[in-house]
Amino acid sequence: MRAYAMYVDGRWIQAAKEGTFDVVDPATGEAFASVPDAQPEDVDRAVDAARRAFDDGAWPRASERDRARVLHKVSDIIRRERDRLAELEVRDSGKPMGEAEEDIDEAAFMFEYYAGWTTKVMGAIPPVGPDAMSLVIKEPIGVAGLIVPWNYPLLMAVQKVAPALATGCTVVLKPAEQTPVTALELAPILEEAGLPPGAFNVVTGFGASAGAPLVKHPKVDKIGFTGSLEVGKVVMREGADTLKRVTLELGGKSPNIFFADASFDEAVEGTCNGIFWNQGEICSAGSRVFVERSIYDDALQAMVDHGRNVKVGSGLDPATTMGPLVSKDQQEKVLSYISHGRKEAKVALAGDPPDDPALRGGYFVPPTIFYDVSNDMTIAREEIFGPVMSVLPFDTVDDVLRLANDSDYGLAAAVWSRDIKKALNTAKALKAGIVWINDSQPAPTEAPWGGYKQSGVGRELGPWGLEDYLEVKHIYINLDDGDSG
Ligand code: ADP
Ligand code: MG
Repeated sequence: MRAYAMYVDGRWIQAAKEGTFDVVDPATGEAFASVPDAQPEDVDRAVDAARRAFDDGAWPRASERDRARVLHKVSDIIRRERDRLAELEVRDSGKPMGEAEEDIDEAAFMFEYYAGWTTKVMGAIPPVGPDAMSLVIKEPIGVAGLIVPWNYPLLMAVQKVAPALATGCTVVLKPAEQTPVTALELAPILEEAGLPPGAFNVVTGFGASAGAPLVKHPKVDKIGFTGSLEVGKVVMREGADTLKRVTLELGGKSPNIFFADASFDEAVEGTCNGIFWNQGEICSAGSRVFVERSIYDDALQAMVDHGRNVKVGSGLDPATTMGPLVSKDQQEKVLSYISHGRKEAKVALAGDPPDDPALRGGYFVPPTIFYDVSNDMTIAREEIFGPVMSVLPFDTVDDVLRLANDSDYGLAAAVWSRDIKKALNTAKALKAGIVWINDSQPAPTEAPWGGYKQSGVGRELGPWGLEDYLEVKHIYINLDDGDSG
């Protein structure tokens, strides 16, 4: 059992009130680490450090080349520490080892990707007439408060930390209370790479005592938040008093449209991965599966067969393809949606938890498939955030578009078809920030990520993710030399 401290101003500290809380391995239900329970005064300390590091410190003043060099080094160190980080991520979040390794690899790449952008943030010189010149330059926003969830603990943090640091912002990161470990592990990596003290700080704590004070803090310029719709709305409201720049990556109830002319096996596999990957704890999970009626029975059967073959167990076991949910709370929430779903729709698959006695205390929910779901049922409207698929039949393209778009969310969508015109026209008509054609879930670092409607505000990743950490400054120069010209 390791007792972690928090990282503030380049030092490892305890919470001012000395409280701590346990970090639980969701495969066993047993604690494997403890972290400080940050209170508002600890958030103050971290924000003050980040503020000083921004206003007077070396990081925002470093040359772009020097910042790039540090971020490249961070990638190298993450790669060196890959196995250790992946194992910690599995123990913290429950996900299977292979998925955790992919997360760590992508986190390393994100630092490399944004290291590249560091030296390529360009301004502009718009025409303003013959007697003046305008220079448009971009500057870091300032102190970024970054609040992240538990489903991709390191990746969601890095998705914000890397662009923030690339621009010269300084950071206070608050990981989710369920999964704080790899965020803390990032601190010595950044330090070893040469980041100066105060430029990166981590406070471990709960939403109300550590997240909310960060959102309200007058010395924080920007909040990058990924989490639930409910808390996203609170963040926007609470950030309004200080007119925070806010980006929100929230939930989804993403449609997955399975046309009869799709490559059948590929579509079955991709559709299942779209909801069973990462235990279904993905904001973009393809939780509403629309299947064209002519192949409805066959597709349902094939997806049930696929779901039966999912190997549920500890993420540390190489045979495992689905781990436990992150926490007891999350398990209870998902199980309650499943029991509600049994009253609304029909069950095609409801698996058993693993029978290994060592995993008896784990928070497992095996793959579950409901069918003959209609779009107005609770299981088709609310985000469940677990391995629960709802299957709905459809007849025409117009029908499925109307149903797919009938959601408060608009994060992602998948379309499976061999007809390129139909697939592209469907993609264009979907109200979603990400549409996959003949795939589900890839989120390359180079491309934008974010939602329409109540799935969020702003975009992360790619150059789009950089803009949210930059202010735009216009410098106007009068060039009129009077009548001498
Ligand atoms: P979930 O319900 O899936 O855990 P949340 O939206 O509650 O997702 O949590 C996402 C992140 O937001 C976590 O880091 C959590 O601690 C934080 N959080 C929760 N409530 C608040 C709040 N009122 N203000 C700021 N952050 C919060
Ligand atoms: Mg919550």
